[in-house]
Amino acid sequence: MFRKRSTRNETDPAVNPNRTADLFALTEEGYIIAQDINCQYELVQQERCSQCNHNLRAIAQINRAFQGLNELVVLCTNCGERYSFIFDISNDVYQDWWAERMGDSYVRMYDGTPRVPAPTE
Ligand SMILES: [Zn+2]
Repeated sequence: MFRKRSTRNETDPAVNPNRTADLFALTEEGYIIAQDINCQYELVQQERCSQCNHNLRAIAQINRAFQGLNELVVLCTNCGERYSFIFDISNDVYQDWWAERMGDSYVRMYDGTPRVPAPTE
């Protein structure tokens, strides 16, 4: 695929250049903090099947933006075990990035309080 070279847009548009240390931290509810689109697939690639230790692949995305969530349905490429990764997209880092990407088309889907990582003891 041809991609126009430009100095302003060298980075992957699905990656937030302002990711923080909270990436992949868990909220109190157990959701995984996502800070852009790409990180959700990165995490799936890093994880292994708990049954057979093979790679996982995302097969479906369930849009739960009205809950401030995005869910990836994942299958083991070997044994077919199914997993569900539920990401928090209500946090400020994600929403700021998304707002910037969407410009005038930005609509805040979730009107609850932005989630934050659970405090670590
Ligand atoms: Zn497996």
